Amino acid sequence: MDLPRTLISTFRGAAYPVVLTGSGISAESGVPTFREAQTGLWARFDPQELATPEAFARDPKLVWDWYAWRRKLVSEAQPNEGHLAIAAAQETFPNFTLVTQNVDGLHQRSGSSGVVELHGNICRTMCSVEGTEVETYNEGESPPLCPACGAPLRPDVVWFGEMLPYVALGVATEAARRSDVFLSVGTSSLVYPAAALPFEAIENGAMVVEINPGETPLTPHADYALRGRAGEVLPRLIRELSK
Ligand code: NAD
Repeated sequence: MDLPRTLISTFRGAAYPVVLTGSGISAESGVPTFREAQTGLWARFDPQELATPEAFARDPKLVWDWYAWRRKLVSEAQPNEGHLAIAAAQETFPNFTLVTQNVDGLHQRSGSSGVVELHGNICRTMCSVEGTEVETYNEGESPPLCPACGAPLRPDVVWFGEMLPYVALGVATEAARRSDVFLSVGTSSLVYPAAALPFEAIENGAMVVEINPGETPLTPHADYALRGRAGEVLPRLIRELSK
């Protein structure tokens, strides 16, 4: 695939580039997207129905165990070429914003800093009642209980139907509104409000580039849709920038 010259030159000259990532960027690290997650032990369950406050209220053990399995997958995974290319690009732009819907922490582990996490982080645990982060708990329990109030603990992730963290969403929205180049990588562009961010960028006249092997609702609105895997397309794009 030849990368369009105008895409490269516009990206190179960007003052406020923004990259938004979804679970597709971590697929090549072996962290399944929700669509791919219905395998093995968990094949009988729809992840979209496990990642809800209602599911946790109904069956906290089931939801905790599913997240414990995902946390293990994430801890064994390594950042891939896509994560590394983004970390390298961040070095070359003074005002670069990386926004992720992922909860796996792989951007941070690949060297990116200041990552705006819209959906929390699976490695953090919090009290389901107080919302406070809890670092030490009885790992033998499922779910463990809050040492302060006795309520079940839950992962610090945003479930379907829950509000996004106010500060992170504010930072992401501001960055999208200011951006001149906006990359949407490995996201189905279906989960709102994250899916609205590229449209904020379009309003500002930004060049919008989608990197995804498949088509999404954003595709017809993007200036460029690069069909391919993030771990293959991103390193090429970043190499071109430095030429
Ligand atoms: P999603 O809605 O972001 O969709 C995944 C997208 O990635 C699809 O459009 C698919 O075509 C694309 N994709 C697949 N492989 C790719 C690759 N190699 N390179 C580029 N794109 C690729 O993700 P979802 O799975 O429906 O999850 C919805 C939400 O659930 C996420 O926003 C996130 O909060 C959470 N989630 C997080 C993780 C994680 O942290 N790794 C994993 C699964 C789900």
